[in-house]
Amino acid sequence: MIKEPQSVYLSVVVPVYNEEACLESLYTRLTAVCDKLGKSYEILFTNDGSRDRSSEILADFHKRRPGHIRVIEFNGNFGQHMAIMAAFERVRGEVIVNMDADMQNPPEEIPKLLAEYEKGHDYVGSYRKERDDSYFLRSLPSKVLNKIRGAVTDIHIKDQGCMFRAYGRRVVDLITQSEESSTFVTALGYKFAANPTEIGVEHVARAEGESKYDLYRLVRVTFDLFTGFSMAPLHVFTVFGFFVSALSGCLVGYMLLRRLIIGPEAQGLFTLFAFLFFLVSVAITGIGIVGEYVGRIYEVVRHRPRFLIREILEEAPGTQAPAASKRKKTTKVES
Ligand code: UDP
Ligand code: MG
Repeated sequence: MIKEPQSVYLSVVVPVYNEEACLESLYTRLTAVCDKLGKSYEILFTNDGSRDRSSEILADFHKRRPGHIRVIEFNGNFGQHMAIMAAFERVRGEVIVNMDADMQNPPEEIPKLLAEYEKGHDYVGSYRKERDDSYFLRSLPSKVLNKIRGAVTDIHIKDQGCMFRAYGRRVVDLITQSEESSTFVTALGYKFAANPTEIGVEHVARAEGESKYDLYRLVRVTFDLFTGFSMAPLHVFTVFGFFVSALSGCLVGYMLLRRLIIGPEAQGLFTLFAFLFFLVSVAITGIGIVGEYVGRIYEVVRHRPRFLIREILEEAPGTQAPAASKRKKTTKVES
């Protein structure tokens, strides 16, 4: 695993998947905010296998500002968290800010995160003060999941889905050392932080493009979070199993006695079926949950690369302006 030496103050990490409509305005706003800080910085984009023009646009950004913009090109779509992970492995900053390409969290709020970092917090989390997304499709399910996650894991963050966060370099190095193939960056960061804090941030509706998360993807990342940080789903099933076994043991005893004393019975057949169907469905859910854990163990055991990098566009460290020592168009395939 690569670890770059620390050579700039700030690294901004942005995962990109089919965001051609957002990128130009992101570039303008983000570089303006970073320039205004008056400190050295870099912006790392990971192109997560976009099928639109994102790749060309990002290459053009690198051309415009080779000393500030680095681009990691994935060899396919490996998901938002892996895109962040690849950038985290290569950051050169003392403090790392992660944000989405769609600017639903305005880049102008980066100084707010940095101000908290400067107060000594190595993890500055955030929650969306007022979320501007579809209520029934995104906000409500997210609220419910936040509640369940709060109850079954020891991750005490208000808003797991808000990725707009700042991390100290030590925390990022610890995150990249966890070589899990399905994980949740914000939760890992919280786990490793020594002095975490949270602040409220603005959230606006997506101006361009559309959300990359359909229901299936949302369910998948939710399982990543639960299986990665809690054994509670397994415990719940074990406890429920014991409980039902005890009850059915009593029922068998009662039915035996009844049969000996009163005789055979044939009524209540459909009630029995209803119970049976319910228990079968619970058992199938249980197998599914065990499968989620086993599948993740299998992924780790296979030991395949978590993501594949096709190309990295970057300058050698320490080159803030266009310089002679170039390390452009390095072609690599690695995890
Ligand atoms: N993203 C990614 N890979 C994916 C899905 C999303 O890199 O497979 C990026 C996307 O380009 C964006 C960020 O992750 O920068 C958040 O995605 P999105 O805005 O679609 O999520 P939402 O805000 O709807 O939760
Ligand atoms: Mg978004």
